[in-house]
Amino acid sequence: MKYVTEYRDATLVKGVIEEIRRTVTRPWTIMEICGGQTHAIVRHGIDQLLPPEIELVHGPGCPVCVTPLELIDKALEIASRQEVIFCSYGDMLRVPGSNRDLFAVKAQGGDVRVVYSPLDAVKLAKANPEKQVVFFAIGFETTAPPNVMSVMHAKNLGLENYSILVSHVRVPPAVSAILSSEANRVQAFLLAGHVCAVMGYHEYPALAAQFQTPMVVTGFEPLDIVQGLLETVRLLEAGKVEVVNAYQRAVVFEGNKPAQKMIDTVFMEVDRKWRGIGSIPMSGWDLRPEFEKFNAEKRFNVETVTAEESPLCIAGLILQGLKKPHECTAFGNQCNPEHPLGATMVSSEGACAAYYRYGRVTIDA
Ligand code: SF4
Repeated sequence: MKYVTEYRDATLVKGVIEEIRRTVTRPWTIMEICGGQTHAIVRHGIDQLLPPEIELVHGPGCPVCVTPLELIDKALEIASRQEVIFCSYGDMLRVPGSNRDLFAVKAQGGDVRVVYSPLDAVKLAKANPEKQVVFFAIGFETTAPPNVMSVMHAKNLGLENYSILVSHVRVPPAVSAILSSEANRVQAFLLAGHVCAVMGYHEYPALAAQFQTPMVVTGFEPLDIVQGLLETVRLLEAGKVEVVNAYQRAVVFEGNKPAQKMIDTVFMEVDRKWRGIGSIPMSGWDLRPEFEKFNAEKRFNVETVTAEESPLCIAGLILQGLKKPHECTAFGNQCNPEHPLGATMVSSEGACAAYYRYGRVTIDA
């Protein structure tokens, strides 16, 4: 397939890794921000092929992982109501709330449905006027355009029975929070290519300059990732603080302007809580007041629901690059994909699930 198979060519990947080996002279800690990249790195063993000077740490860019526990509990409460059809992407159904998950609600008779687009949820609302249809709108900048489009579409159709449960987060404030931490170890970032395809990378040069940290826009195939790493190592070794685009086939500096305009019409920036990390100022989006009637939290009066994280789970430290999954005492014991304690073990993009699936059980494995 064009633009996919050539980016999985083992000989080309090996050549770039050799170039990284020739370039690097001292230890560097680099964070890939996106869970999709984490999964690709572990799956293809890229971290094991790199020279020992380079340590990769895994960032908070997994939407399922950073969705707060209380929001899962809010989803469970809404989905349990008789009048509700609760729609979600499939990976949220197994994410444990305080006592159960959406699969359990479905097993107990709740009308919980997996959809592939929020526009499918709007269609359900139109076809079921006697029901309240709620879409679980989580994610980063990548899923924001279809989610806001569903709200605009429902508004245009005059639907009174459609709403979204919003937990949208944004990458730049998370990068800023990680680099602001006294415990920070990250010296450079691989930026998430798909997020930059929507938002561009015009927000990052100021961040790179403020924290003196180079950043490279990077894709998701093995060759994309090692090319992103090579650019990063070149910048680090040369002492250059720049933002480089190593994913030019998908990303331009200013991003997708129509999508950004649509997001800005429906959403406004708000403080947002990240699971395991806590609240990060202006790190999320929520519905603007003029779209408030589409806000499921308000419609179902679940705004005050609170929850306590498992004391065993160190996902917050993992998502900030301060620990690795196998350093968690529950990893593979009390916590595994069948019985996940934290969202990083549930999500296919979660670092704990990737380490478990690909057998990374020791620091040097
Ligand atoms: S292994 Fe489980 S309990 Fe430990 S950090 Fe990962 S998700 Fe949390």
